[in-house]
Amino acid sequence: MDRGVRSELAGIGMTSQRTRARMIERLREGGIRDERVLAAMAAVPRHAFVEAALASRAYEDTALPIGLKQTISQPFVVARMIELLAAGRELGKTLEVGAGCGYQAAVLAQMAREVYAVERLAQLLDKARANLRQLRLPNVRLKHGDGRLGLEKAAPFDTIIVAAASPGVPQALLDQLVVGGRMILPLGAAEQALCLIERKPGGFSETRLDAVRFVPLVSGVE
Ligand code: SAH
Repeated sequence: MDRGVRSELAGIGMTSQRTRARMIERLREGGIRDERVLAAMAAVPRHAFVEAALASRAYEDTALPIGLKQTISQPFVVARMIELLAAGRELGKTLEVGAGCGYQAAVLAQMAREVYAVERLAQLLDKARANLRQLRLPNVRLKHGDGRLGLEKAAPFDTIIVAAASPGVPQALLDQLVVGGRMILPLGAAEQALCLIERKPGGFSETRLDAVRFVPLVSGVE
């Protein structure tokens, strides 16, 4: 490799480290307080999860296309959801529904004991696999399946995080949450809000939070 090319690559590396540090500052300014969450967001190179043509925008606080009409989630929303789930506790064994390109699974892997990430689109799952391979995260498992059904084989879960919106809470996900466990999901269709669900010994509690915008949760696999 000639010296010009090498210094150019080093330059990209520097830029992404600096822009990632700026992303963390913006998350802090936006109200993310949990240092565990900020450290996890700082540890994952988001540019490695988008197409090369979008890499220069990877640390903007916005969702970006990843193909097949799907998106990589907005960093602030990823941080906010994980912070709500982790408040006062560990994430433990975690189920992610809607792995997409694998970004959020990589962030969760920094904090959770185990991450099971389910994706219904085989083509995206392949991308997620390739992206995650580079990061060598032994505690993440990717599965092809309809996450509306949860993941019976690995249930129950301490934490469930859903990255696609639905009008109601899928029953299987409620069933696969441990007592004392938490789930967060975007509820609604045209208008959506984050909903935090906690399983208590006597039943479930539900808290409605921020307005959000997610792609829809869809049945079946492709
Ligand atoms: N977690 C991703 C966000 C991906 S967007 C990130 O880190 O950026 C949401 C994903 O949910 C899409 O890839 C979509 O295909 C997937 N999805 C939608 N319905 C699903 C279902 N029933 N089961 C599993 N995945 C689903």
